[in-house]
Amino acid sequence: MDASNKNFEFLKQKFHEHYSSVSPEGIAPSDCASREFGAGWDKKIDWRHLALASAFELKSFLVREAPLYVSYSAAHYEAPAAQPMERKNAKAWDLIFDIDAPTLKVEHQHNELFCAKCFEAVRSDTQRLIDFLVGDFGFNEKEIAVNFSGSKGMHVHVTSEEALRLTQDARKQIAAYIKGPKDAAALLMQYDEKAPLRGPNATTSGWKRRAFNAAKEFLEKATVEDLMDYGLRRDRAQRIVAERSVALARLAEGVWDAVAGLEKAWPTLVGGVIARSRVEIDEPVTTDAARLIRLPESLHGGSSLRAARIDLKRLGEFDPLKQAVAFKSGKMIKIKTQRPLEFDFDDETRCVEEGESEIHEGVALFLLCKGKAELA
Ligand SMILES: [Zn+2]
Repeated sequence: MDASNKNFEFLKQKFHEHYSSVSPEGIAPSDCASREFGAGWDKKIDWRHLALASAFELKSFLVREAPLYVSYSAAHYEAPAAQPMERKNAKAWDLIFDIDAPTLKVEHQHNELFCAKCFEAVRSDTQRLIDFLVGDFGFNEKEIAVNFSGSKGMHVHVTSEEALRLTQDARKQIAAYIKGPKDAAALLMQYDEKAPLRGPNATTSGWKRRAFNAAKEFLEKATVEDLMDYGLRRDRAQRIVAERSVALARLAEGVWDAVAGLEKAWPTLVGGVIARSRVEIDEPVTTDAARLIRLPESLHGGSSLRAARIDLKRLGEFDPLKQAVAFKSGKMIKIKTQRPLEFDFDDETRCVEEGESEIHEGVALFLLCKGKAELA
């Protein structure tokens, strides 16, 4: 048996042991019998069009086959195993979002094993996505479930009656809305240079409200220096500060050019609000009914981590390398690596020397799945 086969068999054995210990209800999705399942060993999906009629059948499948990747359909079908797709007959469709990478790219020391910095950004993107779903679309928080993707992202599932009935077109509109307006001009109205600049007023909602709030907050707090940073002359800036309340009253009416000199500043300010508020989602996951998504609580073959469900109230503290670690036994495993590694795992900084070493099973599986180590 060559090294890669030995590693693969070991992983399968460990995944088999893990799935033997889970409760069927703990791992089954809602309406299990109407879902299409997919599983993978080499690739993320080697098999699909699989129907598993109950939580018990799903668990038996996972224990027997020990797949390295498991996914299921967002759609609920009358005949989940039927082929081609049209013969499955979709009855409903969960509304799903996948955030795979941070929306805002910032310079940092990226860690290729697991980047806490990138994940922190993904976590705040997830919170903003939930704010859109609850605040802008009116979904109930109780019907929104969040789980770790098992790798470096997050998945959000909305399962309310309204969400299940949304058409593909409605999903496309929701996805586009969350990704944000193309530019500031989409929220500000000016037909040409000479026309008056009109923008959202105090009664607007959604993205327009975000733009209005940002402008209002700016006007409320702006100092003479802040205004001069936007290219205003000192005397004009001083006048704006002195007559702040008049400018704010005009802004509340949607008259954005009441403050002479700021016409050019508003697009920059509104552009900044869009960039900070939007969320970059993997759109086809939301809009393609045929897509499969990782099964929450299943193991990810690229990390050995659980696609852990996360309590919405504790989203801000969720750390995959603590809460999604599936293998926590004290067993020691002999591995070898090509180069020394240092990383945080389960609340400790781990150092692995180049060459052979004996390390805890959970850490060993993480490195094996990442392709950074092999069994010695
Ligand atoms: Zn990073």
